[in-house]
Amino acid sequence: MRKIDMHAHFLPPISRRDAAGLDPDNAPWLAVDENGETGQIMKGDRPFRPVYRALWDPGMRLEEMDKHGVDVQIISATPIMFGYEFPAQRAAAWAARMNDLALEHCAADPRRLKALAQVPLQDLDLACREAARARDDGHVGIQIGNHLGPKDLDDEHLVQFLIHCAQEGIPILAHPWDMMTDGRMKKWMLPWLVAMPAETQLGILSLILSGAFERIPPSLKLCFAHGGGSFAFLLGRVDNAWHCRDIVRQDCPNPPSSYVKRFYVDSAVFDQGALRLLADVMGGDRIMLGSDYPFPLGEQSIGKLVNDNPWLADDDKRRINHGNAAAFFGLQDAPAAA
Ligand SMILES: [Zn+2]
Repeated sequence: MRKIDMHAHFLPPISRRDAAGLDPDNAPWLAVDENGETGQIMKGDRPFRPVYRALWDPGMRLEEMDKHGVDVQIISATPIMFGYEFPAQRAAAWAARMNDLALEHCAADPRRLKALAQVPLQDLDLACREAARARDDGHVGIQIGNHLGPKDLDDEHLVQFLIHCAQEGIPILAHPWDMMTDGRMKKWMLPWLVAMPAETQLGILSLILSGAFERIPPSLKLCFAHGGGSFAFLLGRVDNAWHCRDIVRQDCPNPPSSYVKRFYVDSAVFDQGALRLLADVMGGDRIMLGSDYPFPLGEQSIGKLVNDNPWLADDDKRRINHGNAAAFFGLQDAPAAA
């Protein structure tokens, strides 16, 4: 079965000195170990995450895609690269540079590697400008974070960006990032296990409950990572609240569950029962294969969860593995794996 993996990350081999133009103390950079095989994503002096060569080496990425039977992979920035917290002009120059490096990565096999661009979301004009430039250069869409500091996706500035992308036909992946990490979240990767799925649900609910989907054109192609986080499992709770409390429905004219056809999710939920629930809630036409490769919290055998699911019909498996992403990103002529 053909596979497009639409949620995978890269980080270019950028040194601390190279990254200093964004911010000398807090910019992300890559420390590669002497063996050339492993390294650390760094944020200034601080190690952020151990990584391995596939993150920055497209040759290894392609080899591993062959191993997993992935025909096409759509790479996007590791969210620490977003740069939203820095001055907009610097973040714009940084985004352009990272986007150029993403295309360089894809140049190893441009038919099988596609890229999503990052934009300086803190400035609407600069974000729209970089989105247009990246599209002209060959990016197939944009990845954004699920929030911008204290602003959720229903913030007027962010809604305007989504409307712009709808009008321009630019697909968007919304990825959780910058989770609550302190206090009770300190240990056991709890920010990734608890806060990250909540961030995604927060992004989705902010668009639904604010009524933003009433203003955003239905043509917007918007996908949320990690199966939409906690959203599908808790949608019944949200619907119940909407029916029972006027403050929940004050800005949202229709039941929250009526908005599920306004967005997509990826398949990175790691459990057959969870994938079944996701398909029941969203429909097989709204899920796309996404692995979160090449990180340890990604799917270790890409596509196995979908292919082995005992409840999904074959037609839905084909749609999730390939058809939905091909239509979403306009990749109808995507090649089959070697
Ligand atoms: Zn991811």
